[in-house]
Amino acid sequence: MVILSSSTVFKHKTPVYNPSMHITPFHIKIATLFPEMFPGHLGHALAGKALEKGLWSYETFNPRAFAEDNHKTVDDTPFGGGAGMVMKADVLSKALEAHKPLGRFIYMSPRGKLLTQDLAQELARENTITILCGRYEGVDQRLLEAYNAEEISVGDYVLSGGEAAAMTVMDACIRLLPGVLGNTETHDEESFINGLLEYPHYTRPASWTSPDGVTRDVPDILSSGHHAKINDWRREEAEKITKDRRPDLWAMHSRKQK
Ligand code: SAH
Repeated sequence: MVILSSSTVFKHKTPVYNPSMHITPFHIKIATLFPEMFPGHLGHALAGKALEKGLWSYETFNPRAFAEDNHKTVDDTPFGGGAGMVMKADVLSKALEAHKPLGRFIYMSPRGKLLTQDLAQELARENTITILCGRYEGVDQRLLEAYNAEEISVGDYVLSGGEAAAMTVMDACIRLLPGVLGNTETHDEESFINGLLEYPHYTRPASWTSPDGVTRDVPDILSSGHHAKINDWRREEAEKITKDRRPDLWAMHSRKQK
């Protein structure tokens, strides 16, 4: 039995869909035990405006609605013993089957490949992605195998659930969608886009005294109006900061330049 009420499609106003801006809106399906957490921060600011404009859309579905026992059980104790609970393959599968097509199927997991700007760019080109948010100790391995899950991690630390991680993936993708940032050039200069960390930013006042009495001026070059020199300066700063903070990124960048 398919319980349709478990799936909520959020339509923020009437989407103003302008086909000249993009081919198909980016649609995200989210399997979560806590659907009320979405869209969270993505309902605000840039992503929120883009949601209202219909540049992206999402729906959540709760696997709990597909549990068939009276207690609506979605988890069970692990075979082999040990602490914690494991999300059940049979229940999750019913939820996923009811929400096909899944598009690219992602499971948020600390064991996954690390989310990078390149991966975000790749995902942002999809029409539909489905993200499974884990809770407890995670998900029965057989479910991940059966659905050929692409496991993605947001970093080498353990969160209490996949929801914040899913929102991180979504955020990184959404701001790349055509029309979301407004100024398409903004992307080119950003950290990671060209493999370097970003140069430092300054705004008015040109001279600022911090509470400890130290006065700091904006680097002269930035007020020179000499765009080529400013670009050179920014590139040098970006290289310096990358070498210093992220030797791994610097090594990768140097290899690509050759
Ligand atoms: N027992 C697991 C941790 C489970 S944490 C382990 O030790 O690896 C519960 C859920 O949070 C996971 O199923 C996953 O969906 C999510 N999660 C936790 N840390 C994450 C991370 N770094 N990246 C992506 N998802 C994460």
